[in-house]
Amino acid sequence: MSCRPSDISLFNKIINVFYFLIRIESEDSENEASLGNVIRVVIRPAGHSGKAKKGHLCFDASFETGNLGRVQLISQYEYDLFVRPDSSNPRIRLWFNFTVDNTKPDQRVIFNVVNFSKRWNCFREGATPLVRSSSRPHWQRMPRNTVFYHSSPFHDNNYILSMCFNFDKEEDLYQFAFCYPYSYSRCQAHLDNLERRKLPHFNRQLLAQSIQKRRLDLVTITHPKNMVAQQGNKVHVVVILARIHPGETPSSFVCQGIIDFLISNQPVAVLVREHLVFHIIPMVNPDGVFVGNYRCNSTGADLNRFWGKISQWLHPTLHACYSYLKSLDQDKNIELDFVLDIHAHSNLKGVFIYGNTYNDVYRYERHIVFPKLLAQNVLGFESANTVFNRDINKSNSSRRLYTIFIFN
Ligand SMILES: [Zn+2]
Repeated sequence: MSCRPSDISLFNKIINVFYFLIRIESEDSENEASLGNVIRVVIRPAGHSGKAKKGHLCFDASFETGNLGRVQLISQYEYDLFVRPDSSNPRIRLWFNFTVDNTKPDQRVIFNVVNFSKRWNCFREGATPLVRSSSRPHWQRMPRNTVFYHSSPFHDNNYILSMCFNFDKEEDLYQFAFCYPYSYSRCQAHLDNLERRKLPHFNRQLLAQSIQKRRLDLVTITHPKNMVAQQGNKVHVVVILARIHPGETPSSFVCQGIIDFLISNQPVAVLVREHLVFHIIPMVNPDGVFVGNYRCNSTGADLNRFWGKISQWLHPTLHACYSYLKSLDQDKNIELDFVLDIHAHSNLKGVFIYGNTYNDVYRYERHIVFPKLLAQNVLGFESANTVFNRDINKSNSSRRLYTIFIFN
């Protein structure tokens, strides 16, 4: 068949209009608040009907911490993937975690994650997503030369993440994730294991329940003599909070490491238990973690922007944390020495601290002792990223709250 130039021109126009319509649909989909994850969605070529064949990829995110809102087949090899927005908050889209199966041997694909809400993220800094499969269950980072974070002219010049991948074992189930997942169930299993050991220096209690009735755990670690407050004998308390932001999974790995160290028989751990009481809340936002959000709880609230305007009904876990901190602060038998709120940053590398500035020079001096110790002892400490300020941008974050209510 041959085409005249005018036919080709018309054909190109039709293709362009068609492509424009696809893009319009994509834009709408990006902005709509998709409520659910894909549930074993099989993607077939246009016009195909009947039973799915090998190679018609099956996508699933209907599991704990799963997140994938939609999949669109672009060509024989290329798929556009849409992150499901946080619950009730369509503006936040970054965490993804999904599985793929029904592959052909050595099937090669390009996955484009096309609707991140945060353009400047870790992928722009050279990070790559994680992958594992049923026969290789340990997570591995995808090789750098197979992942590209780039401005795409086909997506209004938005930054998209393109991953080239070869499905080498057709029987395997493959899983892709933004970062190492750390689920609510994993946290519960860790605490259950510790509780079963009946250690005299470890205590676990239920501080509150989330909106969806998950546990807000409070762990206390100290020498048994400090477990019960002694009248007239002041105890020094350290509070550690973790995982207020669900997508920041390193927060949970660090928190678990701290707990495992503090309960151990290492001489430093034994010594600090003698002198300090550690109160640890390992998962401040259990609902957000469970459903696979990036920042919010189940009502769409970024809890670290609500410390100054907490609702007991919309933010019950935050309310419980706040009430507990306040009760410690007001207890005459307690010296609340230190509050550490563990996060992970979406585009800064290394270990660093965000803190406040104070007019009281002695308080300021105490405030910078911990970053100084970290700088001396932690290989990955990044002093360039450590910041002390009091701008109004973070006015309802935990660290700002402590300057107003706690320690005064
Ligand atoms: Zn955070």
